This record gives sequence, structure tokens and C-alpha cells, in this order.
Amino acid sequence: MKEVNVIKNGRVLTPFKTIEKGVVVFEGEKIVAVGRENEVRTPKSAKIIDASDGVVAPGFIDIHVHGGKGRDVMDASYEAINELSKFFATHGNTAFVATTISASRSELLKVAKAVRLAMEKGTDGAEVLGIHMEGPYMSPDERGAHAADQIRPPSLEEFQEIWEASNRAVRMVTLAPEWAGSEKFIENLRSLGVVASVGHSNATYSQVVDAIQHGLRHASHTFHRMRGFHHREPGVVGAVLVHDELTAELICDNVHVHPTAMKLLVKAKGANRVVLITDAIRAVGMPNGEYKVGKATVIVKNGVSRSAVGELAGSTLTMDRAVRNMVKSVGLPLQTAIKMAATNPATTLGIDKVKGSVKPGKDADIVIIDEEVNVYMTIVKGRVVYAT
Ligand SMILES: [Zn+2]
Repeated sequence: MKEVNVIKNGRVLTPFKTIEKGVVVFEGEKIVAVGRENEVRTPKSAKIIDASDGVVAPGFIDIHVHGGKGRDVMDASYEAINELSKFFATHGNTAFVATTISASRSELLKVAKAVRLAMEKGTDGAEVLGIHMEGPYMSPDERGAHAADQIRPPSLEEFQEIWEASNRAVRMVTLAPEWAGSEKFIENLRSLGVVASVGHSNATYSQVVDAIQHGLRHASHTFHRMRGFHHREPGVVGAVLVHDELTAELICDNVHVHPTAMKLLVKAKGANRVVLITDAIRAVGMPNGEYKVGKATVIVKNGVSRSAVGELAGSTLTMDRAVRNMVKSVGLPLQTAIKMAATNPATTLGIDKVKGSVKPGKDADIVIIDEEVNVYMTIVKGRVVYAT
């Protein structure tokens, strides 16, 4: 018999509807019932979790995150990924996609194997969903903190090797579609069910439109490190804003993107196509100081991470703060901000049948927060992995 748990006394944001004094019942890894207290039958033997008037919501899914608490995906070890998994759970994540940076083939293969191991063994906090390869197939003009000597054109052969080493766990690739050969590369990703995302790109508007026709479906950290908008050459930003085929990531830390640009993105894409991400690096949850991003050193001061030449280099954002910023800086209802942090990432990855909302049949990936988005409890597949 699987253990039955009941969350009571919370405001449930599914997030498609709000249920005051809602009840969520989960059995083992799965949610089995959601409703009002008088509607849902709860077995006598069930374990009760009192949400104490908090908000019960689907757990956050960060599809673009490099590190935290002194660790980085590029450390390429089970231990680092497991520590990240625990740390992210304290900020309300129930899942994340381990994001790489531009590096040599051998380094990327090491990461692929470490992520594979973490997925096979399981981790103690947020679930590892796979790999987001940020580069190395990006534009030298828009590389930001990525090492110039690690950037190269897309290679089907290299990707195939990483794909196999990870046991087919690559979920997303951020690339610059202006590279020759990218059309074939994007088509290959699409056939494998991997999301092709435009990012770190100096492509023209029409180059992005071409790439959409070949299967491009997403944009990495919109506005940041992509050809900006001009009314005669709308660039990557113009294509992202206008084309519904693309979902759009947003680093909503109030530093990478001005709140007005955040509002513009929400207006253009609507509540269903904006995906909150952190792009966080190992300095998150650590004091100010110097940290490594790949081989480069970044300096973190007052929570802002910059390279030696002063360029923004990753963030120190967490998903709970991202949701809070969307409420405070952009003026969204909490329900909508949660949708952008939980439901939309699941839709983007094509896993919304099992994740991203509080509904019977879905994984019991649940976060209990207050109205200010302080995290009280994180439940991953029915297991309480964090509680205050
Ligand atoms: Zn980036």
C-alpha cells in the first residue's frame, strides 16, 4: 500500500484555478484528488500536511540554471548535482534542467555522464530533468561570459556523442541559428524531441524566421545576449516578441532586464509563453566575492555577477525571488507568475502531461509558500524534500 498524504488548510493555485481551503491528496508519487474540503474524501489513515493558510502550488521548474551554493553543473560530478538539487528545493524548485556552458567536447561528455548518473540514481532534492546545452554553438559576437575559444558551429556528430553519453537526456540546446548548418541541426533536435532555442545570437529577423520553419521553438534569456530590436531590422528580439511558435525565457532579477522590458515581453507573449528562469551560477546562496564560471572568474557584488570586464555573467536569482519579482516589479497576479515558473516550463519541455500543475494524475510536485513567496515546504514526487 502506498502512503496517502493530504495537504489541508491552504489556498490551492492549480494554477488554472484557485481553491480556497483546498485539499490536495497524493498517493505515492502521484496526485489523486484536488478540491474543496467538503468535496474530497480523505482516507482516515492519511498523513495530514497542514498548509497553515499558505498557498499550495505546483513546484517551480528551472530550465536554465548553471549552479548554486558553490556548485556548478560543469563540476561534472554526482555530488555537485545532488547538492544543487537540495539547494534548489529550498527555493521551491521541484525540478530543474542542468545547464552547461560552452566547453570542450570532453568536458561536455563528462557533464553528460554525471547528469545521467544523477537521473539514474535520483537526487535528494529537486528532480534532474536532463541537460540544457547552452552553447557551444553560439555567436562569438554575443558570447558574454562564454570562453571565445570554446565557441564553434553546430556539429551533428558532436551532439550525437553527447546525446548518447547522457542516455538521451539532452532536453534543450541554445544556439545561434545564423551558423551554417544550423537548419539541419535544428531539424535533428526536433526529430529527437529536443527543444531548439535561439540565444547568444546575432541573427537577423529573417534568419530567426527561417529557423522557426525548421523547428526552432524557444528563446533563451530573452533580450539578453541577442540582436536587439530595430524598427527596420527587428533582430532576434523582434522575432521572439512576434512569433507565437517561440516560448520565451526571462531572467526577472530586475538587473538583466528592465521591468519595462519584462512588461513588454508579457504583453507580447501572453501568460502562457513566458518562462521564468534564473540562469543562476555557483555564487547563488554564497557571500559576495570571486567565483568561477567555467575557466573565467566573475565578481559578485551586491548579488550582481559580472565578468572581469564588467559584463553581466549569470545571475544570483532563485525561482522564489523570480516569482516575487513578477508580482512586485511587473504587477502580475501571483497565480500568473506561478504559471510562468511551473506550468510554462513544463509545456516548453513537453512534459506538461505529468508536471507543471496540481491536478489528479500528475506528479506530486508541490510547493507550499506564503503570499510573499517564502517557501515553507517542497514536495518532489510525493516526498517532502524541504520543510522549514
Ligand atoms: Zn547565457
